[in-house]
Amino acid sequence: MSVHAQSRGVEASTLLGTTCPPRATGALRWSRFLPATEAEGPGRRAAVWVQGCRVHCPGCFNPQMWAPRGGTLTDADEISERWVAAARAAGSTGITLLGGEPFDQALLLAPVAAAFQAAGLSVMAFSGYTFEHLTRWAEGRDDIAALLASTDLLCDGPFLRALPDTRRPWIGSTNQSIRALTSAHADEVRRVDAEGRGDTLEVRVGADGIVHVNGWASDAALAALFYDLGVRADRPQERVA
Ligand code: SF4
Repeated sequence: MSVHAQSRGVEASTLLGTTCPPRATGALRWSRFLPATEAEGPGRRAAVWVQGCRVHCPGCFNPQMWAPRGGTLTDADEISERWVAAARAAGSTGITLLGGEPFDQALLLAPVAAAFQAAGLSVMAFSGYTFEHLTRWAEGRDDIAALLASTDLLCDGPFLRALPDTRRPWIGSTNQSIRALTSAHADEVRRVDAEGRGDTLEVRVGADGIVHVNGWASDAALAALFYDLGVRADRPQERVA
């Protein structure tokens, strides 16, 4: 790809994530929950991938989580207790919200995040919206304000494939930021910004033989890993828990 074509791609991508999402109501729609992972944030953490994303970054690694259908529908207050208990039992020190787009379901994820903080566990969130947009929208939207208020560590901004970030962990492109919104992970964020740190890719093989991959790696590393694995199986299918 030429430099010119790359910069045009970046310009077109500056509109990604600039429209405030509508307020989500009803049940939380999520795709996957892990009680413990070491690839989705600092230390050992639970992680929940929500189903549905309005940002649509070209090159997103989870396009099967864009659709606002499929996944599991659950009452947010009820699932919070179960996820906190599962995270604690697995020795996790926090939860990471990713997807999918957590702030598209801010009203439903805010109580989940608050439950983790109340239990003394930290909350990390990924968003394709920038912090600047989120804070501006939060002035008129108590759901976005509530989720921001219950987030300790935020990775924000759309994924721009033309700007790969190989220095910092967790994120995919250099336009994205890693922000400590509280003191919970402020030292780690400072260290990562100053020294960088490689990406982590975690591969889990379930008892059913299904291979789950999470974390972050280069396109080439993922292509090599996926070469023999065949078609991905995590297509949206609706369940009610
Ligand atoms: S915000 Fe995240 S889930 Fe949504 S399209 Fe971008 S990279 Fe994919």
